[in-house]
Amino acid sequence: MGALQPIHLVLILIIVLIIFGAGRLTEVGGALGKGVRDFRANVGGQDAPPPASTGARHCTSCGAELPPGARFCGRCGTGVAAGS
Ligand SMILES: [Zn+2]
Repeated sequence: MGALQPIHLVLILIIVLIIFGAGRLTEVGGALGKGVRDFRANVGGQDAPPPASTGARHCTSCGAELPPGARFCGRCGTGVAAGS
């Protein structure tokens, strides 16, 4: 109770669609999106940073993220050590 569930957002969206009509949906959606962003910024500060040490490796040359087991950078082609 009290927590805003996704189904509530859908219901709100439907109600807004009925009230304002599809013609203004873009405008209303933009306002809602801005409000949500402001809300999240106020409540949670910045979004949680992405996990930095999940085993993902990065190219030592260009910094591109490398898929597990990759031996060459997909962006610049620099050879990288396989494994850890
Ligand atoms: Zn690279």
